[in-house]
Amino acid sequence: MKIFITGASRGIGYKTMMMALERGHDVAFTYNNPNTDVAKIIAEAKKIAPNQLCKGYQLNVRYNEQVLDVVDSVLMDFDTIDVVVNNAGINRNNLAFSMTDEEWDDVIGTNLSGTFYVMRAFLPEFLSKRKGRFISLSSIAKDGLSGQANYAASKAGLIGLSRTIAKEYGSKGITSNVVAPGMFETDMVKENLSSALRGFWIQHCPTKRLGHLEEVAEVILFLGTDAASFVNGQTIEVNGGLDWAD
Ligand code: NDP
Repeated sequence: MKIFITGASRGIGYKTMMMALERGHDVAFTYNNPNTDVAKIIAEAKKIAPNQLCKGYQLNVRYNEQVLDVVDSVLMDFDTIDVVVNNAGINRNNLAFSMTDEEWDDVIGTNLSGTFYVMRAFLPEFLSKRKGRFISLSSIAKDGLSGQANYAASKAGLIGLSRTIAKEYGSKGITSNVVAPGMFETDMVKENLSSALRGFWIQHCPTKRLGHLEEVAEVILFLGTDAASFVNGQTIEVNGGLDWAD
């Protein structure tokens, strides 16, 4: 398979990319920070999968023009793409009463509009071959989480977006599903996870721990396989059994 993953320079996206390569898939990945050490990522990819194609593209998903340019380049370099993973995401936490327009717009623009731009850009390719898989990353915050009005709204919004794509294009061989992770120790969580929230998680999560990255990557990759061909419009929660937080 040929897989496109946004935001794979670190965290869940990086792990998903490395596991995909290990399984013999080609991967086109994006990163946002221009200082990203792409050569190091490619070297690691080559170590894991010397025969697979792996190429990085700088992309800020907030900007549709950039998305269109990158999708064009990816389709030229890879010939086609079979699976699109909308993983890029940010948070800018604040209580609603003091949340700035910038904090709101940054998060909605990246997590929700960015996901839409990427899906819209790949639809012509998927429609032309009557096959394609969209997998988008939501969050436990989709049901509301204190201090994350912007993030929660973006992660709930992309479920509506994904289910709409599932309904509009299911008859054309295209599926669209969401993976909603609980708590995984990535930069995003390390930067934002207070000891109180970590304590809450360990106390209430039935598995009594945070998730391991491969546990969410595995579900993402499954949704891209032929084995998942009849899974459409769904949200799969990967959270050790804890599906709420205050
Ligand atoms: P990280 O913060 O570790 O990585 C985020 C990735 O997104 C990086 O590759 C980053 O690129 C990229 N990115 C950030 N902003 C943009 C942008 N504007 N345009 C394009 N790419 C961008 O995040 P995680 O791995 O923790 O999270 C991955 C996804 O999973 C996110 O959508 C997140 O909301 C979701 N999630 C994560 C959870 C967790 O426990 N970690 C829980 C629930 C959901 P760069 O390195 O260049 O900045």
